[in-house]
Amino acid sequence: MNKENRKTFYWFSQLSVKQRISLFATAALMVAIVGLGFLMNPASKPKKTVKFSVDMSIRQIAPKLGVTGKALARELKLPLDVSKIKPLRKLGVTHEELQHAVHHILSHVDATVKYYVYVALVLGGLVFLTMLGRPDGSDTKQRRTWYPRSPYIVSLLLSVIVAGFLLGKSPNPMEGIVKVFKSMVGLYPDPGAKVIAFGFFIILAVVGNKMICGWACPFGAFEELIYSLPILRKIKQKKLPFILTNTIRACLFIAMLLFLFGVFGGRKGTVIYHYVNPFNLFNLDFETFSILLTVISTLLGSFIIYRPFCQFICPFGFVSWIAERFSIFRVRIDQDECTQCGACIKVCPLEASKGLVAGKKMPADCFSCARCLNVCPVDAIQYTSVFKIGLTKCST
Ligand code: SF4
Ligand code: SF4
Repeated sequence: MNKENRKTFYWFSQLSVKQRISLFATAALMVAIVGLGFLMNPASKPKKTVKFSVDMSIRQIAPKLGVTGKALARELKLPLDVSKIKPLRKLGVTHEELQHAVHHILSHVDATVKYYVYVALVLGGLVFLTMLGRPDGSDTKQRRTWYPRSPYIVSLLLSVIVAGFLLGKSPNPMEGIVKVFKSMVGLYPDPGAKVIAFGFFIILAVVGNKMICGWACPFGAFEELIYSLPILRKIKQKKLPFILTNTIRACLFIAMLLFLFGVFGGRKGTVIYHYVNPFNLFNLDFETFSILLTVISTLLGSFIIYRPFCQFICPFGFVSWIAERFSIFRVRIDQDECTQCGACIKVCPLEASKGLVAGKKMPADCFSCARCLNVCPVDAIQYTSVFKIGLTKCST
């Protein structure tokens, strides 16, 4: 049995009866939530291939794909205002181009059961962070046995396998936000549904600080798993300046809006994230070389950099960083207890802990990874609700 497994068994043996009941009840609830998802959404099973002909018009095809005529025109690389009633053959569209466009649109159809999987993973993570990580009654001297990594690794594996490779790329948090803006330029017939989907992801990012990213997003989980491998530790200690990573991420977000609304590029509907969407990995379908390059470079980069895609590119990562100000459960540091020893700053893979210790209002992203929760010698760090009283002066 390796050191990590021993630590997990020791942690489990120290849990109180109440905590063990909570653990098993949460696991059962997670299974029930996912089971309910499968029962209520039989359509989440693999999609059938749909056949269309170039003798059909955009108006005949688009509703069957659940997109607007503009969206289909964009996929076919036609102007958004092209005739929607002429047969595609007359618009110069070939059979191969049509099949490619249909294939791409269908790859974005949501596997609805994934929403249930996301809820289950976030619930499990939240219960672990707030109720189970430190056994009841254990004192600070035993802190090294708190928050073992195994439960987190299991959650990450489930995310990659179930929410990723088994259920495919959509829905995911990144597309959740992009689709809201796409529907603003008429690329989806149901803007309300896209706003609700985005709201779902933001709620899961706010109920526990960035929990959807830290514990459930399949691509984020893949990056986290690679980064967690116990190799190249010295290089990993070097952290990228948050001002740099966040500026690049914010610039990409603004560029996305400018291209999408046609301010740059001369035509509406261009989505720059399409060319770097790593979630295509879960459909094993790399539509462009740039997507393949993004997947390879971010996964290789994850050996030495913490979540490079999340830090540099992801629009949901950027928006959920802003939303962190409203998180209910999060890492909190009691400024009166904190001696500024730097133990949490050292183990944090980002500048989040550093910002929290300094009491910054807008610290770097915190992915609720729990690395800092078992290192504080004076027990000044807790993962708790912002409404909890009893912590004297907290950076939140
Ligand atoms: S920031 Fe990372 S973890 Fe969060 S949605 Fe984006 S890819 Fe996923
Ligand atoms: S180590 Fe850093 S990222 Fe992880 S929970 Fe602590 S503050 Fe957040």
